[in-house]
Amino acid sequence: MKVLIIGGGGREHALAWKCAQSPRVTDVIVAPGNAGTAREACVRNVAVGAEDIPALLELARSESVALTIVGPEVPLVNGIVDQFRAANLACFGPDAAGAQLEGSKAFTKDFLHRHHIPTAAYQNFDELEPALAYIRAQSAPIVIKADGLAAGKGVVVAHSLEEAEDAATSMLAAGSFGAAGSKIVVEEFLQGEEASFIVMTDGVSMLPLATSQDHKARDEGDTGPNTGGMGAYSPAPVVTPKMEQEILRQVINPTLAGLRKDGITYTGFLYAGLMITPDGTPKVIEFNCRMGDPETQPIMARLKSDLVTLCEAALDGNLSSMGTEWDSRAALGVVMAAGGYPAEYAKGHPISGLERADADSKVFHAGTALNGDAVLTSGGRVLCVVGLGTSVLEASKAAYTAVDKIDWDDAYFRRDIGHRAISRETGEC
Ligand code: AMP
Repeated sequence: MKVLIIGGGGREHALAWKCAQSPRVTDVIVAPGNAGTAREACVRNVAVGAEDIPALLELARSESVALTIVGPEVPLVNGIVDQFRAANLACFGPDAAGAQLEGSKAFTKDFLHRHHIPTAAYQNFDELEPALAYIRAQSAPIVIKADGLAAGKGVVVAHSLEEAEDAATSMLAAGSFGAAGSKIVVEEFLQGEEASFIVMTDGVSMLPLATSQDHKARDEGDTGPNTGGMGAYSPAPVVTPKMEQEILRQVINPTLAGLRKDGITYTGFLYAGLMITPDGTPKVIEFNCRMGDPETQPIMARLKSDLVTLCEAALDGNLSSMGTEWDSRAALGVVMAAGGYPAEYAKGHPISGLERADADSKVFHAGTALNGDAVLTSGGRVLCVVGLGTSVLEASKAAYTAVDKIDWDDAYFRRDIGHRAISRETGEC
């Protein structure tokens, strides 16, 4: 059978690599893919953009694709699953109604409130004056969020009320996020430790994926500007088996029940971004309607079960009959980025050492392009190098041994991915 993966980042390389291992799969097509997917066995790229739904439909039809898996959120929010379903094509992900959990923060806050799922106190606003009045009645720090998709940039954690007022004004009055900021959420600042929890669901049953944790800050010690993610590891020791039960009881199960109650059948990956507050309550910071990047890379490196079979079971409403099997080793992925990311950065630098690095780890590509046989940088996050080991520390040693074999002008990466988990393992905290 043929599988189509939509997207072109490291997440999609990992999904394509995993699907290509299924004995049932003959071809994996990636639209548009990157240099890594172009060079993967049984995988090929097609130059169709991840947001061009009519062209993706045509591609799935003309190639007789049996299963499509959608990587990024934009096509999901724009209703790709609805359109594939109408054309009788199997497409794994939530429909537009379900994808609102990521597409609208105001929708999600109201949803959480309605279904009594723990989250920060909040108010939604689409007019500036009431928003400013509400902010002035709160205390700092306070969080201002653009309602719609803003490529991870629509959240301001304001450390003073002036900063909060400025953020609200720039979103609601100055249109700094366009339509995405025409509505905002003003939210209580939560203290605690962040964790993420990802499940696969058919709308009724669900299978938790292995736990994972990412590092969003660009620089070591979790400092510097926010990025799409500079590394991730699995398992995440912050999510203990007891915490996992709490997350299922307080967040995941009521969310799936709430969706059903609201008439939404949610099929796909559901990613909960959580703050574990000091009293041990997992509070929802956000939902994503797809896998995270770079969490997907270490998670897929550990998944032993057949991803294609799991996605098909979910689409058939049969997830309750399935289980997942995981490599007991830890996996840790280090993102290698272009110098300057997430601000301005150069493209087109030749990358050396990929083959040597691939020998003892898995190098997933993100912003790369082929020029003949040469692999060039073509994006901010360029590679995610995943190592496996008997502990997060050992996985990190494997990953960095491979990272040290790769080079290009201006390559940038953090040396401390997994530091919290490693401190826990080594008893330093
Ligand atoms: P989001 O896009 O909603 O996940 O927010 C991005 C980041 O902002 C999160 O990963 C948190 O680090 C931070 N954040 C968002 N909401 C809150 C909150 N209510 N309290 C504290 N930090 C938050």
